[in-house]
Amino acid sequence: MSFHQPICCKCNKQMTCYKNGVTAVEKAGNRDYKAWSTDKYKCDICGAEVLTGFGNYPMMTDCDENFQEFVEMKKKKEYYSF
Ligand SMILES: [Zn+2]
Repeated sequence: MSFHQPICCKCNKQMTCYKNGVTAVEKAGNRDYKAWSTDKYKCDICGAEVLTGFGNYPMMTDCDENFQEFVEMKKKKEYYSF
């Protein structure tokens, strides 16, 4: 799999990875649907942040038995949804 670091369009600069394994929860309407493990990148110049590196498969989906518990646990820590 080829992967390139994100580029900040504003600064024309490669962004830096500063956190791995950040949870991003994908919604279907208002419902939590899939939980992804992502990498958080930041632009050192302007501070813009992005989540990338989702991979091909989510960590969990709403079909998994403990999905809601997992999401609730993540909501208490670092958590993003989209
Ligand atoms: Zn920037």
